[in-house]
Amino acid sequence: MRVAVFNTKAYDRLYLEAASAHELTFIEAHLNVQTAPLAAGFAAVCCFVNDTLDEPVLRQLAEHGVQLIAMRCAGFNNIDLPACERLGLTVCRVPEYSPFAVAEHAVALVLDLNRHIHRAFNRVREQDYSLDGLLGFDLHGKTVGVVGSGKIGRAFARIMSGFGCQVIVSDPLVNDEMAGIARYVSAAELWADSDIISLHCPLLPATHHLINADTIAQMKPGVMLVNTSRGALIDTPAVITALKSGQIGYLGLDVYEEEGDLFFDDLSGTIIQDDVFARLTTFPNVLVTGHQAFFTREALAEIARVTLQNLTDYECGALPDASRVTGH
Ligand code: NAD
Repeated sequence: MRVAVFNTKAYDRLYLEAASAHELTFIEAHLNVQTAPLAAGFAAVCCFVNDTLDEPVLRQLAEHGVQLIAMRCAGFNNIDLPACERLGLTVCRVPEYSPFAVAEHAVALVLDLNRHIHRAFNRVREQDYSLDGLLGFDLHGKTVGVVGSGKIGRAFARIMSGFGCQVIVSDPLVNDEMAGIARYVSAAELWADSDIISLHCPLLPATHHLINADTIAQMKPGVMLVNTSRGALIDTPAVITALKSGQIGYLGLDVYEEEGDLFFDDLSGTIIQDDVFARLTTFPNVLVTGHQAFFTREALAEIARVTLQNLTDYECGALPDASRVTGH
C-alpha cells in the first residue's frame, strides 16, 4: 500500500523501514488541517497519539482518497470515530506491544521519586556528596494501589509484588492472573490504604479527572501518585493544590492533559505558555517525562511489525478485530 507516515521521527523511520513490505513516504509534519493535503494519492495514513484527526482533517483525508488510518500506537482518543464511520474511513491500531515497557517506566518513576536519583545525579556532578534531602523509604511492606488490572497494570503489579509490597487493585473487571499477586478492593479502599498509587486504566468519560480534589482528600497524606496512562485522568490544578499542602508527597507523570502542544518535540529555548505545566515543573518532588514510557527497542519493533501487518491484513480484507477500531 502507498502510505503517508505523518509525524515521523528518526526512530519511527528506522523501525518501520526495517519491517516494511509497503511503500512508505515519511513526512515530518504532524497531521492537521494544514498538512492533510499531503495525504493526496495515498491509500493510507499512519499516525500517532499527537496527530489531529478531527472531522475537518478526516473529511480532507476521505476527499483525497485515503481509506485507512493506521495508528502506530494503542490509544485512539485523538480520533473522531463517529466522523470516521460517516466518512467510511477504517481505523486500526496496535492493541498491544510491550506492556513491560510502560510498567517498567512506571516503576522507574517510583524508584527515582523515592530515592531522588535525579537530584543525586546532579549533586555528584557538582562534587556535592551530601545526603540531606535524599532520604527515601523502603518499598518493602508498603501498600501499592494499582488502578486498572489490564496488561500494563498486571505487569506493574507483578514487579511491585516482587519488591515485597502489598499490592491492591481496583478494576471493574477481575483478572484471574492477579491471584497471589494482588488483592481486588474498591476504589475508595484503594485511595484510603495506598502509600503509592499508579494509574493504568484507560481514559474514558467515567475516568476523566478520576484524580480530583475529592479523591485526593481520601488518600493518605504524603501519598506518591504515578500516571503513565493518560493525562486527563488527573485534574492537574487539584494535584498542584495537593502538592502545595503536602497531601501529595510525590508525583510522577509520563502524560499530561495538555501534552499535545509540548511533548515529542525539542522546545528548548522557547517560552512555555502553559502556566499549569510550568508550575508543575517547579516542585522538587515532581518528576515529569515526556510520554516516553512506551519507548523501548522491543516496543518500537513490535509497533512497526503490527502496524505493517495491519496494512497487509487490511489489503487482504482480513484486519483482525483486536486491531480494528472502525470499519470492516
Ligand atoms: P488494558 O485495556 O489492557 O487495561 C485497562 C484496564 O483498565 C482494564 O482491565 C479495564 O477494565 C480497566 N478499567 C477501566 N475502567 C476502570 C476504572 N474506572 N477503574 C479501574 N480500572 C478500570 O490497557 P493497557 O494496555 O494495560 O493500557 C492501560 C493504559 O496505558 C492505556 O489506556 C493507555 O492510556 C496507557 N498507555 C500509556 C503509554 C505510555 O507510553 N505512557 C503506552 C501505552 C499505553
